[in-house]
Amino acid sequence: MYKVGITGGIGSGKTTVCKVFEVLGIPVFYADTEAKNIMVSDVLLVEGIKSTFGKESYFNDGKLNNKHIASIVFDNASELEKLNALVHPAVFRAFDIWEKQVATNVPYILKEAALLFESDSYKMCDTSILVTAPVEIKIKRVIDRDKVSEEQVKARMSKQLSDEEKIKKAKYFIKNDEEHSIIEQVYALHKHFLIVAANANNI
Ligand code: ATP
Repeated sequence: MYKVGITGGIGSGKTTVCKVFEVLGIPVFYADTEAKNIMVSDVLLVEGIKSTFGKESYFNDGKLNNKHIASIVFDNASELEKLNALVHPAVFRAFDIWEKQVATNVPYILKEAALLFESDSYKMCDTSILVTAPVEIKIKRVIDRDKVSEEQVKARMSKQLSDEEKIKKAKYFIKNDEEHSIIEQVYALHKHFLIVAANANNI
């Protein structure tokens, strides 16, 4: 199945863009949402997190102790790497299962991941889209959506590759700057992918 990875910085609007693809009938795997789900449901992953970061990583009711994990991995690259080394392979496993379930009678599928390039998961996709927006717009969107401060948004942004770095790696681009229509851009890409995917799926 032809796979399109889609990414963008925090607040770029990648989820919003994915919703437009969904309207066109394209299934989307939301890797970041899935990662949160499997951190409480994937038994192997839960055990791995407990043995690496301590039993207090989970509350008695099984919910993830986000504060505990964040206090360890925030600003500690090697601890964050340990967490990613546990979570990313589990997300890849979940993606494989999901793909088998949805990949019938659809022309192509999308994988949305904030860290598509940072986690190397773009290597498992046939192509990639980068959603871009000016920094000021991204910051404002996240402040409005998450009710956080500008400093908190900038701190999160600093953990991601810059758009300049991502631009070098992406094949297609969607400008979500509230001047260009995302519906028109998505539709143009969709028509293109229908042709490319049909050729690729027939090989
Ligand atoms: P994150 O990585 O933080 O999850 P994201 O890239 O998935 O962010 P979205 O959640 O899609 O971004 O968008 C961030 C916020 O900006 C949302 O509240 C969304 O409704 C809003 N937004 C996105 N695109 C637009 C747009 N073109 N016009 C107006 N609001 C927008």
